[in-house]
Formats: sequence, C-alpha cells, structure tokens
Amino acid sequence: MSKKMVAFHTLGLDVEILKALERENYKVPTPIQAQLIPEVLAKRDIMAGAQTGTGKTAGFVLPILQMLKKEYQEGLHYPKALILVPTRELAKQVHENILHYGHYLPLKSTVLYGGANLTSQANRLKQGVDIIVATSGRLLEHIHQKNIDLNAINHLVLDEADTILDMGFVHEVSKILQHLPHKRQNILISATLTGSVKRLADTLLSRPKLIEVDSMGTSSQDVTQKVYLVEDQKKMELLSFLIGSRNYKKVLVFARKKELADEICKELNLSGLKTAVIHGGKSSGERSRALEGFKEEKIRVLVATDIAARGLDIPLLEVVINYDIPHIIGDYIHRIGRTGRAGSKGIALTLITPQESIALKDVERLMGKAIEKESIEGYEPKEVTQQRGARKSQTKPAKVEGAFGKKRKKSTTFSKTKKRKTTKRDGFKVFDENKEKTKKKERQGKKRRR
Ligand code: AMP
Repeated sequence: MSKKMVAFHTLGLDVEILKALERENYKVPTPIQAQLIPEVLAKRDIMAGAQTGTGKTAGFVLPILQMLKKEYQEGLHYPKALILVPTRELAKQVHENILHYGHYLPLKSTVLYGGANLTSQANRLKQGVDIIVATSGRLLEHIHQKNIDLNAINHLVLDEADTILDMGFVHEVSKILQHLPHKRQNILISATLTGSVKRLADTLLSRPKLIEVDSMGTSSQDVTQKVYLVEDQKKMELLSFLIGSRNYKKVLVFARKKELADEICKELNLSGLKTAVIHGGKSSGERSRALEGFKEEKIRVLVATDIAARGLDIPLLEVVINYDIPHIIGDYIHRIGRTGRAGSKGIALTLITPQESIALKDVERLMGKAIEKESIEGYEPKEVTQQRGARKSQTKPAKVEGAFGKKRKKSTTFSKTKKRKTTKRDGFKVFDENKEKTKKKERQGKKRRR
C-alpha cells in the first residue's frame, strides 16, 4: 500500500466529480480509492480485497462515472454499468452513493432489488438509465420479463463477492453473465479473498490487477479486540452489563441466528436498553426502520445476523460485540470491520463460553494472533472460578438492573435452549409415574375380565 498522500485531483477525475466530493466533504482519497481509481480508469479487470468502511464504493463508482461521462451522448441513456450486490440494503446504499457522487453529471441510475414494486422499477428502466445497481434475483426477473437489455454493459462490478457466494447467489450471477457482452471490464470486490472467491475470480476476470487494502491486516490494527470468557447461562447478562456499565452509546451486536438475534433484542429491551433487530426474517421496511433508528441514535443497540449486516454503512461505530463466533469464520472480519472506521479506533468484544473455545482458536488462526482474554468476576466460566479458588458468594453477578436503572424482568433467557437439570427426584418421579400407569392398566384389565 502506498504511504504517499494523494489528492483526488491527481487521480484524473473531472471537475464535476471533484465538486461532488467537495460537497461530500471528502478531503483525500482513502488508500483503496488511491489504488482503485487509476486501475479502474485504465479499464483493467480488478480483484480487490476491501470491506465496507474503507471507501471501496467510491473507489469503483467514481472512475465508472468518469468513464460514462466521457462516453455520454446527450439524451441517450442505456445500461452501460452494472453493479451486482448481495443485499437490498447494500443495493440502496451503493445507489445513494452514486446519486451523491454523480450529482453534477447528466447520468441516470437506478436500483433494483426484491421486495419492491416490480412495475415501477420496470417503468424507471424504460425511461433509460446508464448505471444499474441490483441484487441478482430481482435483476433476473427483469431480464425474464424483457424489461432490460444488458447488451451494452461495459463495466461489471461484483460487490461483496464473498457474501454473494455465501448467500448462494452465484448461480443467479452466472445466469446474468450470459446476458452480458463478452468484452467488458470486470471488477470484483470482496472483504475476504478466500479460495472460493479466488475461484470465482478465475472464471470471471482476465489477467486482473490484485489490490488488497484494509482486509485483515489493518482492521486488526485499528480495532482493539478482546474476548470475554463467560459462563453459558450468564452470556446475556454479561452483554447487557458490558453495554450498561461502560455506557456504550452505539453498539452493534452480532448473532449467528435470527432466533437468537430476536431473543437478544427482547432481553436487552427488558434490561432498559433501547434495541432493534435486523435479520433476514424481517421485512424490508422493518430493516430500514431499525437501521435508520440506529443511525439517528434513537436506538442504542442494533442486533444483527451476519448476512443482514453485511455491507451496511453505519458511520462511527464505537463498539461491536460478538455474542457468538460467526458460522463462517471469515465473517469475524466483516463483524469487526464495522468499527474502527477511517482510521478511528474501534472496540470489538467477543463473548466466549468454554464450549466455544475451539471456534475461538479458528478466529485467532484467521487473524494470525491471539486475542486478549479477560473475565469479569461473577460471569466467568466455572473452570476459571475454580482455578482462582473464588468463593461462591463472590461470584454472584452484579444485579443487571442497576446498570441501567430499569427494572428487568426475571430472565427468560434461553428458555428454549436452557436444559433443565435432571435431578434424582425427577428420575424417581418418572419411574413412579410409569409404575403407576402400569398398575392402573393392570387394575383396568382385571376389572374388564371380571
Ligand atoms: P464504503 O466503504 O464505500 O461503504 O464507505 C464507507 C464510508 O466512508 C461512507 O460513509 C463514505 O461516505 C465514506 N467515505 C468514502 N470515501 C471517503 C473519503 N475519501 N473521505 C471521507 N469519507 C469517505
């Protein structure tokens, strides 16, 4: 990565674009922009390792706008650039960026994603557009309905390619590719450059320029990562204790599963922490409302599943808390990449039960280093307590309600997952009940025989 400071005007961008950047208050290009912009302008195929928060969107949008502006013929609008993204949220976000960066340009763009009205999208397409941002499923619908002609696409961007793969959209993408002209520029952006992303790149890109900025390395430098060892049953309490006692004002909590995310949301709200949840089971409107509420700081905690959170641009995130280790280990990088943005320091905390220690090892292998571990008295796993020889009375967790000043309903946490211990008494009861049933049957049988 070049350490030399560059200015936007040295990257060959037109005055209308520079004016738009001024309007956005962008002073200097981010490292990914400094590298991407000249390469995209050179019409090369590119494989870039960068996640949200690095400024990657402007990195590919600005030079595409510049090229389209050069080719632009007055009043003639037809699709020349296609940006494929995995989620609606990202589609909206990228499109918003295009509108901002292209504010002084005569180009037209549109965004296509599922869950929105197909006809109004088709009408917009009829009016003519230069740039399309789309999720693969909805774009295919428009292709099948012959609402769109992709024959003149010169620039294709696969944004968040790793998420596209993880979400299983790669087949839809390859169907879309069949409708594109053979000769075009291909740009693949991915937070993680894993084997499957590289394989996709092999099929898509021709002699690509590899650009790697801010993937693993720098995110771990800008983010203070810490692991909290916790007893399984006390995870939820520790989560609200950490947020409350440290007075975190804007927290993104990650959970693997929708059901768990819902449960965390419910529990935190009961604790007096204003919380919303965002996951694939929520409608587009619910997701937007949760996200907006969080951005506007009406909501203090946003709980998200990995897929729902991918690519979301939430500026100035103070802290990310991993309630668990992600199902796909690479997602850990996505998760912690939500904080420590644009050079500011961030905090990423991970709650680990003894059962999750193997998964933690995988994360440490991924990050190439051990993550600092800590435990808070009263929440620590039994082994730790025993090792320290702590007395039982000292291990009682601090009452959570004290941390936020709101009374908390007696925890129903993990009612579904929490296993009730089988006591000897239970064993006897089952035994006795069975015995009783057989006796009853015998008695009834005897009666009938009589
Ligand atoms: P992205 O990684 O593209 O999602 O961008 C993350 C955030 O950085 C967005 O809020 C952008 O508006 C912002 N951003 C992008 N480029 C710059 C820049 N050169 N200077 C300041 N902010 C930027």
